[in-house]
Amino acid sequence: MSANQTRDGASAGVEIAVVVPVYNEAENIPRLLERLTPLLERVASSHRIVFVDDGSRDNTIEAIRAANEADHNVTAVSFSRNFGKEIAIAAGLDNAEADAVVIMDADLQHPPEVIEQFVAKWREGYQNVYGARVDRDTDSVVRRVFSKRFYKMFAALGETSLPEGAGDFRLLDRQCVLALRAMGERARFSKGLYAWIGFKSIGVPFQVAERASGESKFSYRKLTRFALDGLMSFSTMPLKVWTYIGTAISAFSMLMALRFLISTAIYGVDVPGFASLIVSVMFLGGVQLLSLGVLGEYIGRIFAEVKRRPLYLVGERVGMPADPLSDPAPRSHARRLV
Ligand code: UDP
Ligand code: MG
Repeated sequence: MSANQTRDGASAGVEIAVVVPVYNEAENIPRLLERLTPLLERVASSHRIVFVDDGSRDNTIEAIRAANEADHNVTAVSFSRNFGKEIAIAAGLDNAEADAVVIMDADLQHPPEVIEQFVAKWREGYQNVYGARVDRDTDSVVRRVFSKRFYKMFAALGETSLPEGAGDFRLLDRQCVLALRAMGERARFSKGLYAWIGFKSIGVPFQVAERASGESKFSYRKLTRFALDGLMSFSTMPLKVWTYIGTAISAFSMLMALRFLISTAIYGVDVPGFASLIVSVMFLGGVQLLSLGVLGEYIGRIFAEVKRRPLYLVGERVGMPADPLSDPAPRSHARRLV
């Protein structure tokens, strides 16, 4: 159903769901709801907030349960362990039945007020409305430099182009949500998937706020893995580049062979040249190991995909019925909660 159909069908009956991945955000939950709920009441006739508790170790789930007691529109899916933000978003989309779904962070870096502009664009007929961050002042310098490099590389190598400043903060029409749900891949690079599905898209500029409390859950190690996942799920260039490098090195070695042949014919046998020999052997060894490593990265990803494990496991749900497909044997107290 497109936004237009939704509007024509029931201009008053628009339902919006908000998906919020949370990992150790107990303190931020009440703060977020305080700003988000009144806004949703204003822009939609009914709403639902779907927290995805990504294996938090603090009191996040208790905070959500308390919020659910006060307001039944607050619901949650709680993972059996930490699966990562990308998978948490996928679980949120699986559990958000609405005309439009908003995805946002829990730390108030994504100002809830911007949702009003998202909804306005959606009512105009846009189906994939993304928040385009104006600056990245809230990130460290190192992170900004890496992120810039990554986007440059993605643009050069990737087969999908990412809009400038677009992240996970966005509104997706039901049609986009269904398209994203249909993506069966395990290595999820959401930013790429949002761009890959297409649909009528538009950016809404917004200023990223400071984190309300706690600190970023992304270490440099996690960010590096994430960047590699992104590049490798959307580009096969790292695999193909070895054909070119191999061809260039072979051509160069043929030229060298020819040169040695000629110089031997003219000047006779020449023993020195040990240093250049070692350097070229080491260089070639390095190139071979690197190309094997790249193959390994892709094969590892193929392995993860063919195992066909479930994307996530749900430990418990708050304010929604259990799903027998993703919730293995719910414990009795978890059943009591739903
Ligand atoms: N998050 C998550 N799982 C993780 C890491 C983060 O669900 O493994 C959530 C986190 O709780 C927050 C959002 O993803 O709501 C963005 O995380 P964070 O603010 O740490 O990232 P940053 O703003 O630094 O990119
Ligand atoms: Mg943040």
